[in-house]
Amino acid sequence: MTINDFNFAGKKAIVRVDFNVPLDENGIITDDTRIRGALPTLKKILNDGGALIIMSHMGKPKGKVNQKMSLGQIVPAVSKALGVDVKFAPDCAKAHEAAAQLKAGEALLLENLRFYPEEEGKPVGIEKDDPAYDEAKKAMKASQKEFAKTLASYADCYVMDAFGTAHRKHASTAVIADFFDADHKMLGLLMEKEVNAVDNVLSNIRRPFTAIMGGSKVSTKIGIIENLMDKVDNLILCGGMTYTFAKAQGGHIGNSICEDDKLDLALDIIKKAKEKGVNLVLGTDCVAADKFDNEANTQVVPANAIPDGWEGLDAGPETRKLFAAAIEDAKTILWNGPAGVFEFDNFTGGSRAIAEAIAKATAKGAFSLIGGGDSVACINKFGMADKVSYISTGGGALLEAIEGKILPGVAAIKG
Ligand code: AMP
Repeated sequence: MTINDFNFAGKKAIVRVDFNVPLDENGIITDDTRIRGALPTLKKILNDGGALIIMSHMGKPKGKVNQKMSLGQIVPAVSKALGVDVKFAPDCAKAHEAAAQLKAGEALLLENLRFYPEEEGKPVGIEKDDPAYDEAKKAMKASQKEFAKTLASYADCYVMDAFGTAHRKHASTAVIADFFDADHKMLGLLMEKEVNAVDNVLSNIRRPFTAIMGGSKVSTKIGIIENLMDKVDNLILCGGMTYTFAKAQGGHIGNSICEDDKLDLALDIIKKAKEKGVNLVLGTDCVAADKFDNEANTQVVPANAIPDGWEGLDAGPETRKLFAAAIEDAKTILWNGPAGVFEFDNFTGGSRAIAEAIAKATAKGAFSLIGGGDSVACINKFGMADKVSYISTGGGALLEAIEGKILPGVAAIKG
């Protein structure tokens, strides 16, 4: 069931969105991408003649009321974006009346779900090693169900459209779905786009498939690397990981970032790639700096012969060519993680080369998915967001999906 097959006329829909937008010290939204992302779903429901109950979390209030994280602050912005005067329920668990009074075409925003510990369902004030923890957890799971039931009671149908939290089994992202039958719960349009994008790189792959994994550490990406190894033709591993691989193969890496306890893992990845016929592309040269600073002195050196006192902060020119060659003819592309310390303007070259090669391939018809935090920041920094096929809105959720994990927020709807 998709929301396009459902007529919301005369119905009340409770929709889980991700309105966890960044605010400045005056409570002004600094980036409204997440609000814009939810609009197609919210507008479809209103345009059908439905009534909207919108719910979200904001920040990490840890189960306590914290006005700094009140969704009340964003009511004007949401009203403007939706084109209706959005009402506000200051207590998400006591919104029966406000929900009951909603008429077709009206919208109600519930206060931050995470003001209640039941949303996340983790016992409060008790550590995991406490003998009473298991009991407390059981009790919390029971009250989480009750909390989800309360939220469900406001509406006739449930729409899950918060991809950013779809990897969490929370009251509003998954548990609530148990209180609706299969014909009255569905994924929203943003969730569908995200799920389809992941499908394009995990199932409906057009070849060649090039995945580019960057960032600082191998350890946080290993699950993804392992899952992709069975699927990709080319695997580019870049960024800080480069130096763990270089050291593992006997290279000299100076002060470069390195996970010394992952050297065997790096060798294992190299071996697996060979066995599976995956073209593993690692940096051969790098831009080394004499300190971790945008204004550092630099020199281009082999990635396995970095002088003492220097550290690799970006991919070198030869490496950029290797990366581009593995990307430009690809038909499916996935990029997660920068090729260097892109936050420093003088070390963006490797990431920019990747972004440009992806743009070229996309213009030739490739499907390109960019996601997981920093690579999205990269694409935006380069002003190239409109030159790739899809930019995921979910950091952790996207990474877990690419690892091959079933997201609880998707499973709750699709079974
Ligand atoms: P991650 O969160 O693991 O995706 O890593 C992203 C971070 O990796 C960014 O903040 C980059 O600055 C950092 N990074 C990329 N390349 C390097 C490098 N060569 N040395 C240190 N940090 C790096």
